[in-house]
Amino acid sequence: MKHYQTIIIGGGPAGMMAAIASSYYGFSTLLLEKNKRLGKKLAGTGGGRCNVTNSGDLDDLMAGIPGNGRFLYSVFSQFDNHDIITFFQDNGVALKEEDHGRMFPITDKARTIINALEKKIQDLGGQVLIDTEVVSVKKKEDLFILKSADQTFSCDKLIVTTGGKSYPSTGSTGFGYDIARYFNIDVTPLEAAESPLLTDFPHKALQGISLSDVTLRYGKHKITHDLLFTHFGLSGPAALRLSSFVSEGETIELDLLPQLSSSDLLNYFSKQGEKSVKNALKILLPERLAKFIAADFPDKLKQLNPQQLQELSANIKQRPIAITGKMSLAKSFVTKGGVNLKEINPKTLESKKVAGLHFAGEVMDINAHTGGFNITSALCTGWVAGSPHY
Ligand SMILES: Cc1cc2nc3c(=O)[nH]c(=O)nc-3n(C[C@H](O)[C@H](O)[C@H](O)COP(=O)(O)OP(=O)(O)OC[C@H]3O[C@@H](n4cnc5c(N)ncnc54)[C@H](O)[C@@H]3O)c2cc1C
Repeated sequence: MKHYQTIIIGGGPAGMMAAIASSYYGFSTLLLEKNKRLGKKLAGTGGGRCNVTNSGDLDDLMAGIPGNGRFLYSVFSQFDNHDIITFFQDNGVALKEEDHGRMFPITDKARTIINALEKKIQDLGGQVLIDTEVVSVKKKEDLFILKSADQTFSCDKLIVTTGGKSYPSTGSTGFGYDIARYFNIDVTPLEAAESPLLTDFPHKALQGISLSDVTLRYGKHKITHDLLFTHFGLSGPAALRLSSFVSEGETIELDLLPQLSSSDLLNYFSKQGEKSVKNALKILLPERLAKFIAADFPDKLKQLNPQQLQELSANIKQRPIAITGKMSLAKSFVTKGGVNLKEINPKTLESKKVAGLHFAGEVMDINAHTGGFNITSALCTGWVAGSPHY
């Protein structure tokens, strides 16, 4: 049986950063990952480019982490998104900022981020075992005993970074919740968060169109962000964010041009002379979307009577879309719920019940918006869980 001071279960962003901190502080460290590669889910974020963090200030972080973000005040006072940016710069990875503060490697390749994290663990003397699934964890006196199919390990400090339950094909199948329950640590109910929306909207005609900064409205909730039409309905940050508030059978409203008022739009139409509806709309919207909207109206703008012009404007600014469902937890981007934060010391991320047992990343009851906020939470909690607190 091999002994380490720190063992981390799960090689996502939280686990990799925990391994870096633990090795940096001189502890013998082992990171165990069941996949053949580290960071499989991380590799798929930001469309494969890795949305590694967000450049916002603390208020932006709190707004971006609606699921218990306040628990992270102490974590962010120790290591925050700006430390993530500095960390990558210091380790030879230049980052760039895109819309809404989203940060990416300038290579536009997730592999750049994962390689840098992996190299840092190795440079600091930490060990990584891939293709090794932990199947049981026990505590005997002060030691944790971990078993995989063919090996046994022991450690003084155990950090659980096994992720949530979304996209289980990336490895996050919920083993960390079993560890918590084994130690009688409460796990709050798991739900889908940041879920793509299933709609009755014509999918084929619009599939693949992505729009910047459109507005989705539902009751008092109004979200202006990017939107993607897919083969099943709506995805992209605007839809994912609204998903916490809407349910099957409800109707939301889409404003394709929130920067223009209805009267701005009618005014614009009045100045388009002989243009067809499609050609007038093409200037404001992607061509396929312009064609789709124009199909319900006479060909030339001049042929539209005042009521039809109002209808055209309403089609653009208040288009109702019926929600026929939401993607399941497995197909949602994030898991809401997890290890109950009342069980965890917010300064050290150590269990209040079990000395030496720590949690970091999405396994905890923290959920954030896409846009780098979950990854920020994972990397920062990973650093704090891996660091000593004397
Ligand atoms: C498609 C998609 C896009 C996303 N886009 C964004 C985005 O743009 N911005 C953002 O902030 N967030 C995004 N997210 C969410 C973000 O990727 C996660 O919140 C983040 O990866 C969580 O990090 P983690 O380290 O806690 O867990 P994970 O990244 O899930 O890593 C957990 C690791 O633990 C391993 N593991 C589990 N059980 C065991 C075991 N028994 N033994 C050994 N290893 C084990 C798993 O294989 C996995 O590698 C996205 C998620 C998805 C699915």
